[in-house]
Amino acid sequence: MKRKDTLSQKLFHRAEQVIPGGVNSPVRSGRSVGVSPFFVKNARGCRLEDEDGNIFIDYVGSWGPLIAGHAHPEVVEAVRQAATRGTSYGIPCRLEVDMAEKVVSMVPSVESVRMVNSGTEATMSAIRLARGYTGRPKLIKFDGCYHGHSDCLLVKSGSGLATLGIPGSPGVPEEIVAHTLSLPYNDLDAVEEAFRKMGDQIACVIVEPVAGNMGTVPPAPGFLEGLRRLCDAHGVVLIFDEVITGFRLAPGGAQERFGVLPDLTCLGKIIGGGLPVGAYGGRREIMDHIAPGGNVYQAGTLSGNPLAMAAGWTMLNILSRDGVYETLEDSAAYLEAGLRRAAADAGVPVTMNRVGSMGCAFFSPEPVRDFDSALKSNTEAYGIYFREMLARGVYLAPSQFECFFVGLAHDREALDQTIQAAREAFQAVQIA
Ligand code: PMP
Repeated sequence: MKRKDTLSQKLFHRAEQVIPGGVNSPVRSGRSVGVSPFFVKNARGCRLEDEDGNIFIDYVGSWGPLIAGHAHPEVVEAVRQAATRGTSYGIPCRLEVDMAEKVVSMVPSVESVRMVNSGTEATMSAIRLARGYTGRPKLIKFDGCYHGHSDCLLVKSGSGLATLGIPGSPGVPEEIVAHTLSLPYNDLDAVEEAFRKMGDQIACVIVEPVAGNMGTVPPAPGFLEGLRRLCDAHGVVLIFDEVITGFRLAPGGAQERFGVLPDLTCLGKIIGGGLPVGAYGGRREIMDHIAPGGNVYQAGTLSGNPLAMAAGWTMLNILSRDGVYETLEDSAAYLEAGLRRAAADAGVPVTMNRVGSMGCAFFSPEPVRDFDSALKSNTEAYGIYFREMLARGVYLAPSQFECFFVGLAHDREALDQTIQAAREAFQAVQIA
């Protein structure tokens, strides 16, 4: 069962000499699960091949975007064709209009949309817009929600910060986060109280409508509706960060699935089909405040990049086909049931949270409905599970506080292989 990792180890050693921590984003390091990373040579469908020739079934999918699988032939061809016409113009091109029209047609609350280059840029820009539009300084976020790494949002964030136990970050002056209030996820009373105390100073509430950066945590019934009601009552801009949930939970994202419409929506990696893209959009009346029509400044040399637009537009068209979301739901439900059975048969207490094709097995017997309950999980046990799965050719997120993502390329064979690996991995957790 031992995987070869000689070439990956050599590469990681070289990387550590010239890249901080050897990686270009912290969660890739594998530190919290006690491994050093493997280096990918090739990826196709639901499988990755590393430099040593090991093959893994991939449940990370580049942290969400690859719903259609790696190297989807239509996406690859679209990028190839676009590249032959030039890789960047800094001048408008047709693909940007096609893409904006597609996003507007799919996401219920979006009437106008601006492309950026990452999820971080999308949330940072949406917050600036909300502040510029309302003329108010404060923002509310929720503990364990991650909205990228811009300064004012690095407060009680999940994802890599939860994994590495960094409580915020040095380098962010206190004054910068003085206007950021982080409240417990799913706690409407806490939001109500904050609004009572300072409703007229709050510009926006930003929320992951299904949290995906403390593991998977669904909104409690009434939570999103309550946020909508409170924001309406106090003239506050409601922002859904759908970087993970957009186009994953339904063609129109979580807002379609739960029937609650935000004022602004942040989108990310999924609309790039794996290329670096983000976007923010929403009600035209608010979006019109962005420069050059309005005075809220935001710009980007590579924004609307033709390669990224070609990949993203193709990806969204694939996701618009009949039966896509039914397939995703069926596959994810099959995997969830198999994992549940495997854990129960091994006698390992696990709490499974899943919404559509995103989910998480928390190594905790208790329900997980917010960051505090997520943090009660046994991360040592997750580390064992992760390593045992990896040894059996299944690549999960290298952290308890991330999701597994099921895509269209995960066929029955891959899912069955995963469930069989999990049976053995849970046994190993039980014995340890
Ligand atoms: N928002 C959410 C909900 C995310 O999950 C992420 C990244 N995983 C971001 C924002 C930041 O996106 P990026 O890494 O593209 O900057």
